[in-house]
Amino acid sequence: MTGVFSLLPEGWPGLLAAPGDSPSCPAAGGHAPPAAPGRLLELIAAAGLRGRGGAGFPAAVKLRAVRDAPGRPVVVANGEEGEPGSVKDRWLLRHRPHVVLDGLRLAAAVTGAARGYVHLSDAAAERAVRRALAEHPADLDVEVVRTEHTYVAGEETAVVRRIDGGPALPTAKPPRPFESGVGGAPTLVANVETLARIALIHARPDEAADIAGTHLVTLSGAAGAALVEAPAGTHLKVLADLCGHGRAQAVLLGGLFGGLHGAGWRDLPLDHDGLSAAGGALGCGALHFLHPEDCPVAVATEAVTYLAAQSARQCGVCVSGTGALARTLAAVARGEAGDDAAAQLRRWSRQLPGRGACGLLDAAARIVATLLARFPDRVDAHRVDAHRVDAHPAAACRACAVPVPHDGRRFTVRVP
Ligand code: SF4
Repeated sequence: MTGVFSLLPEGWPGLLAAPGDSPSCPAAGGHAPPAAPGRLLELIAAAGLRGRGGAGFPAAVKLRAVRDAPGRPVVVANGEEGEPGSVKDRWLLRHRPHVVLDGLRLAAAVTGAARGYVHLSDAAAERAVRRALAEHPADLDVEVVRTEHTYVAGEETAVVRRIDGGPALPTAKPPRPFESGVGGAPTLVANVETLARIALIHARPDEAADIAGTHLVTLSGAAGAALVEAPAGTHLKVLADLCGHGRAQAVLLGGLFGGLHGAGWRDLPLDHDGLSAAGGALGCGALHFLHPEDCPVAVATEAVTYLAAQSARQCGVCVSGTGALARTLAAVARGEAGDDAAAQLRRWSRQLPGRGACGLLDAAARIVATLLARFPDRVDAHRVDAHRVDAHPAAACRACAVPVPHDGRRFTVRVP
């Protein structure tokens, strides 16, 4: 890990550069009681705060849906980040647990919940949260629920299932948790960064739009890794330069969810709409930069192989789909695929999205689609040429000559 950086202007309310986390953390308002929950909800809506777990859904819409559903709501701080390239949620729970708990109390006040949960897998984060809970006002009944650390354990229906005592696996939707969640109650499953930003908005309402537009991002790649807080719209080249990725040839966006981006990646803006317009996704804010010597085919193969290994194996289409994508891509990388492999991969990458119970299959399909669309020459360079007798094509690509690991180690970042 290269470090932790704040790119926020002096005095701008942030989470990394907060003066510290304490029972009366000044950054978050020091447990100030939520006197006017309706007003706070309006502020969150006007500021345009979007969820930071991956989907980027408007936070106010989710809060309102839970508040208005029949039954006594439940609120959950979701700190289980399954994306291997993301560390922001564990960092927040370890270093800013009071701010997250303040956000959870505020969400409870807005929705009318009397019960809350903190859902996590990280042992250090659990210790920090339990210490903070002992110092926190007891006006909300909060339980800590430990889960396993897998790609799908943080998906909202998997969170509900785990809290209810089941396995941390997604379920089919509908119903969504806001309709029927923990114990059948309407449930808000909110990412811990989302909750921390709600706490900041409550503490500094005049700066709500700036707070809602600020992102925690995890950067990784061969040159190093960093946790950064930056305003929306920051160009990716600014982020890349922070930790030596200025020469990167491409970036994998959104953890593993936003696909590969080659030429032009430097001018992409750090925000949901800008990245969506470019055919990507911000997801949980994890960016993996590809060094000039990385092979995009090798990177895509490792990512899809990891996703196939992480499939919860509940949906037939996911088991067969991610498996087929991974096997075919690995054959391409090794130079063992036939002429029709690229066409087959292209067909699957169009047919598979939206067919699993969670986003894992979509992530795998998007990586394949963007590899084929943006790096056709690199894919073609691995193609078996039946008329070629002089050399094995993949021998020219050293990155693809090594066996593909299943554990996503290339993307894994240590929590700073
Ligand atoms: S899409 Fe895959 S990972 Fe997601 S629930 Fe279905 S089988 Fe599990």
